[in-house]
Amino acid sequence: MKKIGKIILWSLLGLLLLFGAAIGVFFYKIKYGFPVSYETEKPVIEFPQSQAAILVFSKTTAFRHSESIEASLPVFTEIARRNGWFVYQTEEGGVFNEEQLKQFKAIIFNNSTGRVLNEAQQQALSQYVEAGGSLLGIHGAGDNSHHWPWYETHLLGTLFSHHSLNPHLQKTEVHLETAVDPTLARQLPSSWVHEDEWYVFFSQPKDVQVVSYINGDKIIPNGNLLWMRDKNFGMGPYHPVAWYRTVGKGKTFYTSMGHSQKVWQNAAFVRLVENALQWSIQ
Ligand SMILES: [Zn+2]
Repeated sequence: MKKIGKIILWSLLGLLLLFGAAIGVFFYKIKYGFPVSYETEKPVIEFPQSQAAILVFSKTTAFRHSESIEASLPVFTEIARRNGWFVYQTEEGGVFNEEQLKQFKAIIFNNSTGRVLNEAQQQALSQYVEAGGSLLGIHGAGDNSHHWPWYETHLLGTLFSHHSLNPHLQKTEVHLETAVDPTLARQLPSSWVHEDEWYVFFSQPKDVQVVSYINGDKIIPNGNLLWMRDKNFGMGPYHPVAWYRTVGKGKTFYTSMGHSQKVWQNAAFVRLVENALQWSIQ
């Protein structure tokens, strides 16, 4: 009986240890990302000679905005049709090689989250941008799951802190900056109402031109720490939600809007994305 008691005790201890280790691994993975497989096979793409090509990349290895991604794809197809562009949509990283990237006028990280490219692919992308290419990011493309300093510096210029949580989606007015590049402002009203999960960054984005902003005092920006009511950090009332910059000979554009499928029915938001594409390939 004594022996059985010992066996049970050790078994329980073992289980407890395994459980603790599993919890530890789980939180480590939440912070640093889940194991990722990198696709390295070059896809076969027939690039039409006379059309500008756009790459829409929606691979996720961290949080997946399934509904937004799904709703965005026909919108990108439609934007491409309107502008006479060729659009290649993929969730596989094999296309991130020097030879194929240079055939694209713009690359969109469409709610792409987590570590999605291996080192060689990251390097191909950063070199593509610095040599004159364009990189655009939508919403989740700017969260803190990417762990890639070049990307964080040149696409975001700041670091993600948290997002609105209570309430999660909030309506507020988005204002267009007055001194914005005319292509980016084309056919946009000076302000419009937009509902989103609002991202809060640790500071104002550095070395960028702001395209649009919200009044940070008019949203409830509390994030995961619900008991902190004014956790808006360095953004304050002037709270940029879209911005751009040049990087070497290339350009980047980022908007923190784009959480839900509904944004793809918001004419002003779609216009902003279309403008950003037109600006990036001109
Ligand atoms: Zn989101």
